[in-house]
Amino acid sequence: MMRDGYGRIIDYLRISVTDRCNFRCVYCMPPEGVSLLAHDEILSYEEILRVVRLLGQHGVSKIRITGGEPLVRKGIVEFIRNVRKIESVKDLAMTTNGSLLSGMADQLKAAGLDRVNVSVDTVNHERFADITGRKHLTEVLAGIRRAVEAQLTPVKLNVVLTEALWEDDLLYLVEQTYNSPIAVRFIEYMPIGRLGIKPGLDVAAIKNIINKAGYGCLQEDDAVKGNGPAKYFRLPKAQGVIGFITPISEHFCPSCNRLRLTADGKIKSCLLLNNEIDIKACMRGGGSDIELYELFLKALQEKPGRHRLSEGREEDDLTRRMFQVGG
Ligand code: SAM
Ligand code: SF4
Repeated sequence: MMRDGYGRIIDYLRISVTDRCNFRCVYCMPPEGVSLLAHDEILSYEEILRVVRLLGQHGVSKIRITGGEPLVRKGIVEFIRNVRKIESVKDLAMTTNGSLLSGMADQLKAAGLDRVNVSVDTVNHERFADITGRKHLTEVLAGIRRAVEAQLTPVKLNVVLTEALWEDDLLYLVEQTYNSPIAVRFIEYMPIGRLGIKPGLDVAAIKNIINKAGYGCLQEDDAVKGNGPAKYFRLPKAQGVIGFITPISEHFCPSCNRLRLTADGKIKSCLLLNNEIDIKACMRGGGSDIELYELFLKALQEKPGRHRLSEGREEDDLTRRMFQVGG
């Protein structure tokens, strides 16, 4: 079992398989001047599988595949099939923008993917296009439906709180939890990289709107499967739940259980810290599994007790944007 310097058990690895994306979300990717990794800078699937096997021997049983957009990387279904074959992997999830999901949900399920999180920040076509740079809301909503039908469940919707989310979006999303066993999660925007985003409704305002909308009172609910920091609530008689993820207003660092692996082979012990440890050089230089594992142990020692983003210090200093880490 792996523990960091603060005694936290680390059993969850988030793997970014590409920095490429078919969207340009304003809070994630700069509109211009994005420099993308060359093909040979990106870890091969074999290299990633080696890491999953190795960390599996040390208690890492939860894997999330992210990006950029993971579904744009060639061979992703076969890769999922190979991750699934690794016995230590007990929970295999993916975060996707959903635009390609309707055509791939069945294949992903058959390959062994357990569940998906789909990002959708508004259900208004115009505001969706403004925030993502693409007019693909229809495809995303179809992807969500197919994911539920394919039982990539629990399907979770990631809604970043920006000015794109209006009250009518909020109520539409909340209503979906009545008819479908989905989890709608409202996520505080993390001000990474001076992208000039105005945060939208805050958690208190959202709860207030829901409570006033006549659905009944939100009841705390901890029945949802997940590895993360969301706090869940359910409306009376709803199939699904509503979650809140508050990295800024109420950080959850003391219960952090994760490491991240970037597409170019760097271990990041914290999303909001620049420290990185290169494992690609070790792997491509013929490093042994013991040498590779030592690099992970070093990352664990560097993992901070908590981030300082709410104090406003780090946002300008962070070297990576979200699409280069995977959220
Ligand atoms: N392309 C996939 C997607 O959009 O779901 C996976 C990668 S994306 C970087 C992972 C998650 O990070 C998404 O849910 C996205 O909304 C979220 N995200 C990106 N930038 C963010 C920011 N500045 N603050 C909060 N969440 C952010
Ligand atoms: Fe792409 Fe996801 Fe970033 Fe949007 S949030 S630009 S879909 S990686």
